[in-house]
Amino acid sequence: MRQLPEEVQNVLRKFSIDLQKLEDISGKIEQQMREGLAGKGNSSIAMLPSFVPALPDGTEVGKYVAIDLSGKNLRIMLLTLNGAGKDPNAVNNNYIMPNHVMKGTGDQLFTFIVNCLQRFLQEFGLVDANLPIGFVFSYPCELLSIRSARLLWWTKGFDIKDCLQKDVVALLEEALEMNMSTKAQIKAVMNDTVGQLAAAAHKYGPECTIGVVIGYGCNSSYLEKTSNIGKFDATASGYPHQNMVVVTEWEEFGSNGELQDILTQFDLEIDEASVHRGKQIIDKLTGALYLGELVRRVLSQLCLDGHLFDAQQCERLELVDSFPTKYILEILGEEEGSYRVCRRVCDELEVPSHGSGDYAIIREVAQAVSQRSAAIVASAISALLRMVNAQQVQIGVGGALIQFHPTYHAQLEECLQALAPKSCEWKLVAADEGSAKGAAMIAAVAEKLKL
Ligand code: BGC
Repeated sequence: MRQLPEEVQNVLRKFSIDLQKLEDISGKIEQQMREGLAGKGNSSIAMLPSFVPALPDGTEVGKYVAIDLSGKNLRIMLLTLNGAGKDPNAVNNNYIMPNHVMKGTGDQLFTFIVNCLQRFLQEFGLVDANLPIGFVFSYPCELLSIRSARLLWWTKGFDIKDCLQKDVVALLEEALEMNMSTKAQIKAVMNDTVGQLAAAAHKYGPECTIGVVIGYGCNSSYLEKTSNIGKFDATASGYPHQNMVVVTEWEEFGSNGELQDILTQFDLEIDEASVHRGKQIIDKLTGALYLGELVRRVLSQLCLDGHLFDAQQCERLELVDSFPTKYILEILGEEEGSYRVCRRVCDELEVPSHGSGDYAIIREVAQAVSQRSAAIVASAISALLRMVNAQQVQIGVGGALIQFHPTYHAQLEECLQALAPKSCEWKLVAADEGSAKGAAMIAAVAEKLKL
């Protein structure tokens, strides 16, 4: 690695968390998860019941539609399940949610979703097929059944107040009724981590009992014994199954100040500028919605302090969100020593003067921010491994940082080697487009089990 100026190294050091601290964080996450599951105290980790009793076992057949609202990106997928030993076939389209809809009204949001669904069904000649739908709604929800999810609060930049505390399945069904003639039915609603877990279990088998999404935000779910979910009254809820997937919502860890001592000035700025201040700290430290903006803030400070770009001011770098996370993926995807991407990024940012010294710094900042994200996610996964306490477990990982970041998977694996309990044989297994595929699969499971 090229020797970076001492002042730059000092800034980068702020993003490195030592092993002892990571273990300490992991222990606290575990404690919050245990309290959340028991329904004790005021845990920052909600541990939400999903009403999903089983994962797909690969024998499922048929055509299913998934609606996946995981962030700004709405994905609609047609998944054909071909039964045991055969890979499923997927076709999908992505629709970008306009910014005003993310902060508008429920009516605008669900009409937007239904319009996209209509376009999709028309394009594939499926309007009259009335296929069963799996709906991924990746925000914290209290479920009352596998078809009813009350939105608790928004995350990831969404802020649509009139949806809070409402059943998002009912809202989607109302919009379907108003805008479309289809008789397609929502068979299951779930968090994206549940879809991710289902897709990985379908692909890798029953040892896969943990699902982790590291996308715009970061969260996990896992298969738990119903009797261990202390806060859930299975009899009162009419839930006869032995197991249930639990959605941790670990992104809220830190909202009681637990991560205060690792936050840098840049994290505090991001939090201050965010829609939900003081909340979802794990998302803000790890998620693709925030990593580019973190890099931008660090670079902007280094420039201001005279360590970048010959100390010449770069106006574009002062603009919020001018450094999208995709730049990080592109920069780290390039061979070390080659700076073609960095040069292009600097041109796009209209940096007045730049050279190889600057590119080396940009690369190291992108690396430091990514490495810290992987370290924190690993400390959360190791907490979950201790909760699950299985001898062998596969962890189904997915989301933009797993799918598109060139080094993230390896970084996560390395951190987990240091943090995971030694008694457990674990493996990270990736399932691309897992949340949407898994949602269609859970719709199939719901049909099979007549839920
Ligand atoms: C949401 C979670 C979701 C995660 C990953 C978080 O912001 O609160 O429900 O699973 O992002 O998409």
